[in-house]
Amino acid sequence: MKQDTVLVTAGRDPERNHGVVNPPVYHASTIVFPTVAALENAGKRDFHKTYYGRNGTPTTFALEDAVAAAEGAYRSTAVASGKAAICTALLAFLKPGDHLLLVDSCYGPTRAFAKGMLANFGIETTFFDPMIGAGIADLIRPETKVVFTESPGSQTFEVQDIPAIAAAAKAAGAVTIMDNTWASPLYFKPFDHGVDVSVQAGTKYVVGHSDAMLGIVSATEATHDAIRRTAVELGGCPGPDDCYLALRGLRTLSVRLVRHQENALRLARWLQQRPEVSEVLYPALPDDPGHTLWKRDFLGASGLFGVVLNKYSKDALAAMLDGLELFGMGYSWGGYESLIIPTHPESIRTATRWEKPGPTLRIHAGLEDPDDLIADLERGFGRLAATDADT
Ligand SMILES: *Cc1c(COP(=O)(O)O)cnc(C)c1O
Repeated sequence: MKQDTVLVTAGRDPERNHGVVNPPVYHASTIVFPTVAALENAGKRDFHKTYYGRNGTPTTFALEDAVAAAEGAYRSTAVASGKAAICTALLAFLKPGDHLLLVDSCYGPTRAFAKGMLANFGIETTFFDPMIGAGIADLIRPETKVVFTESPGSQTFEVQDIPAIAAAAKAAGAVTIMDNTWASPLYFKPFDHGVDVSVQAGTKYVVGHSDAMLGIVSATEATHDAIRRTAVELGGCPGPDDCYLALRGLRTLSVRLVRHQENALRLARWLQQRPEVSEVLYPALPDDPGHTLWKRDFLGASGLFGVVLNKYSKDALAAMLDGLELFGMGYSWGGYESLIIPTHPESIRTATRWEKPGPTLRIHAGLEDPDDLIADLERGFGRLAATDADT
């Protein structure tokens, strides 16, 4: 079956649900068994049957089956948030004395987990240049157990050579984990490029409507058991209503992404022409440094990208952003609505430097009419220039 058909059919079974199209929401803690034999047998669980609410209900399993089918995984495991998915994936393969290689452009809370809890547990982290490619082999030690990547980079959007990184990790016996949230399960197929474990903040495009928190860890046959056991050990199960919302979001992911991409490209091209803009960070643009790798490995671009402005004061930037009518300011992204926030990559990095002339912004292109979005930004640039001239 082709991808769009998979998205519509996966995880559904109307015949077993009184003809109802969508899998029902099972609210459950206790699962009861009719006999001692059944009770004891359930205890020998494979983590994919109802046993106790924390380990999943038919609603959870329907979502997991659908995401696994969409992303091309052996199996997927749903957890309470994207951050929980990242921590679950890392803890599944790291123990005291091990070494982690983590990309310097990773999502901030991933870095915080490595520097905080993993360091406290005696797991050392080395940050690597997102452009390292096959050169990652030089950083791998005998005790390196995980290479964690995210492409394109959070805030800075460098495209990594995932096949080269994954091949070097595999040769050294390390597991490659990738945060694949930007591309969603549809626009990058991690398991076709050598990745062993893929992490999705389902909160973003899978849910797609800014109304639920959810994480998904997808795995190969070889890595799945470790992931599932770790998720069960940690006990951070997602709520049934959030699983339902994620499953509903997944059905329309393909059509939404087409429009997110179209709108992002329109905005990115318009921004490139503006005198206030130094650089647009979006691999779908032909002159982006990551364009060649993006074209080789990705099937599309999502609606999230970066913009580096020329030198402007903080007040001027605030005047631009505070007055925007269609772009909300807030963390997270991947919903139907447009967002914008200032980012500060220069203050985060340790393995590489981020030196740019002015402030960096992150834009999420929502599903509004792009003409209205452009008009809103244009008025914002007017306020930016007026305030800057005043100071
Ligand atoms: C938002 C995000 C996460 C974390 O997801 P939450 O559901 O907010 O915990 C992880 N990775 C990336 C790239 C994200 O943008």
